Amino acid sequence: MNTTIKKGLIGFMTLFIIKTSSLHTQELHSRWDELTESEWPKALKASNQTCILPIGILEKHGPHVPIGSDLIKVREWSARATKREYAVVFPDFFYGQINEARHQPGTFSLPAKVVWDMLEATCDEIGRNGFKKIVIINGHGGNPEMIRYFMQTRLEKQRNYALYFFEPPSDSNYVKNLAALHKSDRANDQHAGERETSELLVLRPDLVKMDSATNQSGANQRRLNIPNVYTAIRWYANFPNHYAGEGAAATRKLGEFLTEHTVSTFAAAIKNIKADTKTLELQNEFFNRVKAE
Ligand SMILES: [Zn+2]
Repeated sequence: MNTTIKKGLIGFMTLFIIKTSSLHTQELHSRWDELTESEWPKALKASNQTCILPIGILEKHGPHVPIGSDLIKVREWSARATKREYAVVFPDFFYGQINEARHQPGTFSLPAKVVWDMLEATCDEIGRNGFKKIVIINGHGGNPEMIRYFMQTRLEKQRNYALYFFEPPSDSNYVKNLAALHKSDRANDQHAGERETSELLVLRPDLVKMDSATNQSGANQRRLNIPNVYTAIRWYANFPNHYAGEGAAATRKLGEFLTEHTVSTFAAAIKNIKADTKTLELQNEFFNRVKAE
């Protein structure tokens, strides 16, 4: 055999080996909708029966970032975190509390009862598919009260799964780094402002229209102020443009820091939740006492 043919043969064999081995070590996808039925038992095992439920919303995000910004955030955070710590990720879920933006185009605000039933039925259906742990990650500021109340009501009836709610921590390291990178007024940076726009610049830069960020005002208009009193109309009163902050101040650098903070702390939480046996055990102990008393 001459050397050229020999080299060619070795090259072909190497390629063949790489090709076949990559077929065997094919990655197990995280997204529920990207798994095949035959992969289901493997996904349940690799996730330790843990499923992430990313909750976003469809609402105006100032004049410059997309209506699905909160959905994009939770989708991308989940995709990145589960690459570090495997779990199954439920597909897009964008039903939540968003009454305060109903005056703006593109807002998808279902009646409260429908949202509640949808969340409850979704969790039950995830449980029926073999998951013992459901981890909520939320991208929308108008949702946490609803999510917490929903979770508290899980103690009304025994289920064979436990619900967890992850929120990224504001630890001292985070606060210090944020202060160094953040440029605009931090107290007013609440919706489509410097932070959220920076995140989108990293997660979906193709959807950010930076030159539109100053087309509307994201300043607090302070049209209603009764000290120590909460009203439902307060958000609309302060931010009728459904924009709170300065999107124009956004940078990729801040976005990269925020994304890494969320993804790394989320991956760590998934790892802890996968290892957790206490929550379900205590939940069962609680219900056995409820039945007995
Ligand atoms: Zn948002």
